[in-house]
Amino acid sequence: MKNVKKEKNTKLFLHLKKWMEKAILDFQMIEEGDRLLVGVSGGADSFALLNLLDSPMIFTPKFYLIAVNIDMGFDITYSGYNTLEKYLQENNYRYVMEKTDIGLLAHSDYNRKNPCFLCSRLRRRRIFEIAASEGCNKIAFAHHRDDIIETLLINMFYGREISTMMPNQKIFGGKLHIIRPLAYLREELIKKYQRERFFPTVENNCPTSKKSRRMYVKNLLNELARENKNIRDNIFKAMSHVKPDYLLPLQKKK
Ligand code: SF4
Repeated sequence: MKNVKKEKNTKLFLHLKKWMEKAILDFQMIEEGDRLLVGVSGGADSFALLNLLDSPMIFTPKFYLIAVNIDMGFDITYSGYNTLEKYLQENNYRYVMEKTDIGLLAHSDYNRKNPCFLCSRLRRRRIFEIAASEGCNKIAFAHHRDDIIETLLINMFYGREISTMMPNQKIFGGKLHIIRPLAYLREELIKKYQRERFFPTVENNCPTSKKSRRMYVKNLLNELARENKNIRDNIFKAMSHVKPDYLLPLQKKK
């Protein structure tokens, strides 16, 4: 996992790196000898995650890294797939890329539910299988601070529960962990980093991506932030300041 290109340690790079390492330490995400599968969708967030994890760490122990991309089958020309593969090869990453029709299936008559539900379920299942075949014990996703905030609201608005993505989540009885090293990083700074590093642009051709629940919540937060610029910070901090005595008694989910 060594970059061919020598990259400058800009102020933005050092800032992102510092906060990523802080999240890794705070949530004990990485231990010596871990084998990380890094999910790379081709979005700015995933390029930033791969790039930051691949740079020298100060406090994080040594680990192995492999990039994994599941192509959803939306682009029949595979131009995004090819762009991503070229980037991974040029930068000497170990990688697995797989062409699937998961996205098409999720939007077909076969699926009458919200496409995102089936799509993310099938993609995640395939990622778990690849993690097992590559001997990886941790899966790193590029979800950032804004994703965590939006997920809290999505789960409240549509799922009738108060929950979000955890920065370090045990699954299968602790045999596998899902980790989110970008948990403290803001989306706008990640996008800025994409421009600074000239990461390639891989279009998301999913017809649902522009009208998903996440997009609705993102737009709503942008709207609210016009009046209260601290709104995202306040929601993020509120997740660590929970007062159970001032909530309703717990009920079994119906
Ligand atoms: S927005 Fe599209 S690609 Fe993303 S989870 Fe939903 S259906 Fe899948």
